[in-house]
Amino acid sequence: MNFTGKGVSRGVAMGRIHYIGQAMDIVENEPIENVEHEIARFNIARAEAAKQIGEIAVRTSNKLGKEKSLLFEVHQMMLEDLDYRESVESIIASELCCAEHAVSETAKEFSQVFSEMDDPYMQARAADVLDVSRRVVEILQGKQHQQSFFAQPVILAGQDFAPSETALLDPKTTLALLTVGGSANSHTAIFARTMGIPAVIGLGSALGESWDGHFCVIDGETGEVILDPTPEEIEVIEKKRAAQIESIQRLEAFRGKPAQTKSGRRVELFANVGNVRDAALAMQNDAEGIGLFRSEFLYLESRDYPTEDEQLQAYKAVAETMQGRMVVIRTLDIGADKQVKYFNLPVEENPAMGLRALRICLTRPEVFKTQLRAIYRASAFGRVAIMLPMVASLWEIQKAKELAAEVRAALDEEGTAYDKAVPIGIMIETPAAAVISDILAQEADFFSIGTNDLTQYTLAVDRQNQALESFVQKDHPAILRLIETAVSSAHKAGIWCGICGELGAEQSLTAKFLEIGVDELSVTPPAILPLKKHICELD
Ligand code: PEP
Ligand code: MG
Repeated sequence: MNFTGKGVSRGVAMGRIHYIGQAMDIVENEPIENVEHEIARFNIARAEAAKQIGEIAVRTSNKLGKEKSLLFEVHQMMLEDLDYRESVESIIASELCCAEHAVSETAKEFSQVFSEMDDPYMQARAADVLDVSRRVVEILQGKQHQQSFFAQPVILAGQDFAPSETALLDPKTTLALLTVGGSANSHTAIFARTMGIPAVIGLGSALGESWDGHFCVIDGETGEVILDPTPEEIEVIEKKRAAQIESIQRLEAFRGKPAQTKSGRRVELFANVGNVRDAALAMQNDAEGIGLFRSEFLYLESRDYPTEDEQLQAYKAVAETMQGRMVVIRTLDIGADKQVKYFNLPVEENPAMGLRALRICLTRPEVFKTQLRAIYRASAFGRVAIMLPMVASLWEIQKAKELAAEVRAALDEEGTAYDKAVPIGIMIETPAAAVISDILAQEADFFSIGTNDLTQYTLAVDRQNQALESFVQKDHPAILRLIETAVSSAHKAGIWCGICGELGAEQSLTAKFLEIGVDELSVTPPAILPLKKHICELD
């Protein structure tokens, strides 16, 4: 039987399905007599859950890096949350029901609230509250929590996977992931892509308990899933897999070589990363540098403003990992789809056009200066550049540079070491910035074109809205003209211009980008070698 979902992590896989049910759905209501005793049971289980999550955090941190483990602090916070605790306790007291039932009811109610929120980050918390509550229920029931490591390699299937499950998956025993729901921005998709586990999400109600134990083949690129495949279908997928392995092996020939066309046109291939661990992946995938370090993930994964020292540790680790290769650290780009609660940003009608990125930094200079200090201090340990997101006007760069100068003056006064020549570049991701790029080039040390937002703002298509997919034309002449304008302005001013949006990895446009004169392409680590091969084969 054939099914199609959304392929969110490339690769083909085949194996038996292990379907993970949801403990939340099967918690019976057992009447009780002693309310206080039941509340005490809940609190003991809550403490045990917090302890287990703490242990997972340590394992995750060792395995995947500190950023990934910060998610579990969110889980621990949920267990401490007063509303959550009061809800469980009041259900026990008012319904005279067992703690298991009260936790499951609270979990369902809270996850419903999260999933109905507009913000994708908050929607993703629905899975977290279910995950945490499932752990508490299993402790109350005296069960071992669902083991994430399996003796035999399996294809894991479920409603959606909670971060604690996906983060701890072992790529050696997890062949692929299948989910009923989920989105390309969910933790499942992000972790799967990071670990190279093929994944198909959004299979809908077709996927259920009945799939457990069935043999299946999946293609994480096309979203195709074949349950109980025929020998012929298996043969097709085996051929696909063999071809995939072969093409990955062929890419090895390009490792260490420059990305250069047959006619000698050279382009630099950099990596986009979101954390320290991804920097190691960038090196493994032969990146010549990091063209976009999305520093906002440090803020997104923190419970409070990351301190200067915490940021310094992250930037320093990335700079050191890259061993002298350029690391372009983009300053905080929150707002719009990336909301951070402790920033207490106002609710906006049009958040994509709201108080975001550099606009927040310029209105909260103390937050911005803390980040700039950390970046400058990290520059003593590697080759670092600063990149400003969402620039639309000249004064924004000038103001940001003034604040950077103040930071440098303070560091000088303290005698703190930093690289005095850290370049300050900007992203070209608003149509305004592209149109006045000749003016902006007078103040910027480099340009990097953010085609994701540039497309959103130029074509007026919300990048979060899947219903608009057919209106997004990758090679829209308006986008190409803006790219051309930015590159030409950069070169006239004697600065370099790269692309760090997803379009940079779009091979159907590579020749066009080279023709336009793009100097650098910054893409996800696994996209580097395939892109290099493509460039080397171009005339
Ligand atoms: C972009 O907008 O193209 C970009 C690279 O930034 P982000 O996707 O993080 O908004
Ligand atoms: Mg952007």
